[in-house]
Amino acid sequence: MEITFLGTGAAEGIPAEFCKCEFCSAVRKLGISGEVRTRAQVLINSNALIDFPPDSFYHSFAFGFSPADIGHIFVTHSHMDHFYAHDFILHGYKYAGGGLGVMNIYGNSEVKGVFDECTAREMKPEVAEKLAFNIVSPYSCFNAGEYRVIVIPAEHTATEDSLLYYVEQENKGYLHLHDTGNVSDDAVAYLAKNGARASVVAYDCTFGAKSGNLTSRHMGLPDVLVIKEKLAAAGVIDNDTRHVLTHFSHNCRPWRRDMAELAEQYGLIAAYDGMKITI
Ligand SMILES: [Zn+2]
Ligand SMILES: [Zn+2]
Ligand SMILES: [Zn+2]
Repeated sequence: MEITFLGTGAAEGIPAEFCKCEFCSAVRKLGISGEVRTRAQVLINSNALIDFPPDSFYHSFAFGFSPADIGHIFVTHSHMDHFYAHDFILHGYKYAGGGLGVMNIYGNSEVKGVFDECTAREMKPEVAEKLAFNIVSPYSCFNAGEYRVIVIPAEHTATEDSLLYYVEQENKGYLHLHDTGNVSDDAVAYLAKNGARASVVAYDCTFGAKSGNLTSRHMGLPDVLVIKEKLAAAGVIDNDTRHVLTHFSHNCRPWRRDMAELAEQYGLIAAYDGMKITI
C-alpha cells in the first residue's frame, strides 16, 4: 500500500492565498519551491483519495496520478479545503474521453449537500450516472473495492459530523486523523474493537509546536503526542507504526526543515507535499 501526501497545508495554503505576513511573503518569493504547501489530500495507491481540495487538479500532474483512475474518495468534511465539488461536473460528457468507471464519493450529509449545491448548475445526466455518492456515519465500517474502511468521529465543527478514516488493504492500515481537535476514547476503542492496526497515522498539526489543548478544532504537536499514547494503549499502533504530522497553518511558520527537526525529536515525520510512504 502506498500513501502519498499530496497536500500538507491548512485551508489557506502556504503561502496563504491572501496573506502578506513575513513568512508567507518569503515563501511566495521562493516561487514553486519545496516550501509551498497545497491544501490537504492523500492518495492511496493510485485509485483512492482522502478529500478533494481545490488543488486536486494540480496534484494530479504534480505528483503523477490520473484522476480518471480514482474509484473511491473518502471525504472528511465539507470545509472548502477538503471538498471542492465543482470539478465533478467534468467527470464525463465532452470533458473526459477514454471511458470512465463509476467514481464513489463517501461523506456525511453536509458533504452531500455541498456536492448537490456546487454541481447543480452544470451537471449533465451522463456525468451524474458515473458519480455515486454514499452517505456514511461515524462508528461504521464498510468495504470500498479492495479497501476495508472504519469511520470514526472527528471533533472539528458543531455543524456537521466530521469524519476520520482508517483504510486497510491486505492487513496494512492507514489512519487519517485530520481535521480534528481530539480523538475521543470512544473513537479509539471503536478502532481497536474493529481490529484497526495502523502502519501509518497522519495527525492534524495545524498549530505546529503549540497545543490546542484537545478542545480546539485542530491540534498541535503536544496534542498529537497524547493521541499517540492513547492509540498505543489500545493496541491500534505498535513500535513499527510511522507517525506523520500534516495540515500545517501559515501561523506556525512551517518551514520544511524546521518541521522535520521538530518531528524528529519525537520520532515523528513531518509531511511535505508529494511525500510517499510505502507500507
Ligand atoms: Zn482543513
Ligand atoms: Zn501568512
Ligand atoms: Zn476543516
